[in-house]
Amino acid sequence: MEIETHLEAVVRKIDPNNGEINRTAKRVAESFGEFFSGYNVDILKIAGALYDSSMEDLIILKDIHFESHCEHHLAPIVGTASVGYLPNGKIIGASKLARIVDCFAHRLQLQERMTIEIGEALELVLSPKGVGVYVEAEHFCISHRGVRKQGAQFVTRYFSGELKGPVRQEFLTTAQGK
Ligand SMILES: [Zn+2]
Repeated sequence: MEIETHLEAVVRKIDPNNGEINRTAKRVAESFGEFFSGYNVDILKIAGALYDSSMEDLIILKDIHFESHCEHHLAPIVGTASVGYLPNGKIIGASKLARIVDCFAHRLQLQERMTIEIGEALELVLSPKGVGVYVEAEHFCISHRGVRKQGAQFVTRYFSGELKGPVRQEFLTTAQGK
């Protein structure tokens, strides 16, 4: 695999005399396959079946743990996403909300873009009255290199439809409540 050849060169450059790293490039390539498994996925397939529902209030899955990687440094981004929607006659299995978050987390990311992508995916799947996404994460490229500010939480939000109105605060109260 081509990526493995490049990684091999990087590993050799870091530690040219280490005989124990023969399979390191191969292992890294395999873990990349896992970290970046969110490409070429059909979001409608991931979402699966929708169910009819007369539910009129906000539906929220909060504190969905995710791991992503920044597209600039390949450094981990670790945090939680809370997603919510105001249904419009259709609901989705709660675990599918978490799967949708993972789809976009398992890519090279900017947190801002990931937040929008999750929100737009929920709109596409559910055609709801509104969507809210709240993402809070630590970026290792901030905490473990460069400015080295550990514990700083990067917060991004996305709102659409009725969630742009007063109901936004209800979503945020739930999403931010610990
Ligand atoms: Zn970065």
